[in-house]
Amino acid sequence: MSNLLEVKDLSFSFDTFQGEVEAIRGINFELKKGEVVALVGESGSGKSVTSQSIIGLNPMPPGRYKSGSILFEGIDITTQSENNMQKIRGAEISMIFQDPMTSLNPTMKIGRQIVEGLIKHQGLTKPEAKRRATEMLGLVGLPNPDKLIFSYPHQFSGGMRQRVMIAIALACNPKLLIADEPTTALDVTIQAQIVELMKDLQKKLETSIMLITHDLGVVANIAQRVIIMYAGKIIEQGTLDEIFYKSRHPYTWGLLESVPRLDSKEHGRLASIPGTPPQLIHPPKGCPFAERCEFAMKACIEEYPDETTLSSTHKVNCWLEDPAAPTVKRPVHLGG
Ligand code: SF4
Ligand code: MG
Repeated sequence: MSNLLEVKDLSFSFDTFQGEVEAIRGINFELKKGEVVALVGESGSGKSVTSQSIIGLNPMPPGRYKSGSILFEGIDITTQSENNMQKIRGAEISMIFQDPMTSLNPTMKIGRQIVEGLIKHQGLTKPEAKRRATEMLGLVGLPNPDKLIFSYPHQFSGGMRQRVMIAIALACNPKLLIADEPTTALDVTIQAQIVELMKDLQKKLETSIMLITHDLGVVANIAQRVIIMYAGKIIEQGTLDEIFYKSRHPYTWGLLESVPRLDSKEHGRLASIPGTPPQLIHPPKGCPFAERCEFAMKACIEEYPDETTLSSTHKVNCWLEDPAAPTVKRPVHLGG
């Protein structure tokens, strides 16, 4: 499989009155054609900023690229004008969000919202676009699509609205679909249905999917590869198997341990790792997880570990795995 997307040494900051917030700090990853990759992390880890960078939706200013590139089929997204990005958005890369209501126009009939994109991006005639809109609504499992195109968003339930968003996002047959917490706002049964739908459509349409989530249950269900972010860095990435069964990073272990049981009220929340991530206004120079890590050593506070390659797909940044680590690996107690 060839690469659809290559993110190289990407750093992105926001300038605020308090100082520079280093939201993404030198990340590297790839996405192959037809692949489903999950980007996992707590809120503030940089996963949404990463996905918004790929589709060119971060506000600039106050945001700015500090280094690196985002190659989408060889085109560097970080250097494109807003005009060019408008052509890419929707046609080549589309996005669905947590709350479909914020991206649907409440005053416009559903059909028209799909038709407009098709006319703009695909150059379809109005009748052609209408036919395609009806077809898409059927494809995402909505009943009576030829009637539904005349309805308004408020006439739909949350789950149905997310189906409509998926129909809109996929109508132009994009190569990449970015789904930012697409099921978070929905109740558990509907969540499962939406994940099934995305899986199904991904197979049918061979769209690459980048799924942003904190829910490892969803990840296990749909992703082929997993990228774990923490404090603006990618700290581990690997296949589903490598992350769920062979993870080498203490933060990933914490995430896996915090997968909630079915009877838990806080479904899908990563709540059980004690402590909080560091501020990204003066981020620590060493490992950002050190304050919460029970294995932290002196080296962890002093220097950020290089990436260690464990297999062609499995990479980790942790001194425990770094062959260049100091030989005495004695845990030190931090902050006490
Ligand atoms: Fe823990 Fe050190 Fe590894 Fe960071 S580098 S996760 S502090 S052992
Ligand atoms: Mg987010």
